[in-house]
Amino acid sequence: MKSQNAALCEKEFREGIVDVTCRPQVAWLEITDRCQLDCVMCLRKMDVNVTSSDMPREVSTRLLTSCPRRSDLWRFSGSGEPMLAKDFEYYLGRLQETGARIEITTNAQAFTEDKLQAVLP
Ligand code: SF4
Repeated sequence: MKSQNAALCEKEFREGIVDVTCRPQVAWLEITDRCQLDCVMCLRKMDVNVTSSDMPREVSTRLLTSCPRRSDLWRFSGSGEPMLAKDFEYYLGRLQETGARIEITTNAQAFTEDKLQAVLP
């Protein structure tokens, strides 16, 4: 069963399918590639696709509508600071409603009391 799911995930990835039918173990969500820091080791320095913008709401809405129950773990990460995304609390709330496990990779510079309360279980 697990290997069938892995094969299906790979097939759908290679075909560029967004509304997947497989169940990825981990879904990475890069909601922004903006950051307020400029670390020397940052992947943003090597990524030619950095746009310094947030993921468009229509893309994220489609993702969050079709995928939340399919992944065991959602990880806010990538080339940027997720807490800078203007819709961070929206994305977080939508995923928390599904009961999915959530990880956030953050530099913690944008933490506010409200954001701290939002991420605590
Ligand atoms: S995304 Fe991470 S590594 Fe890159 S500049 Fe920001 S904090 Fe540093």
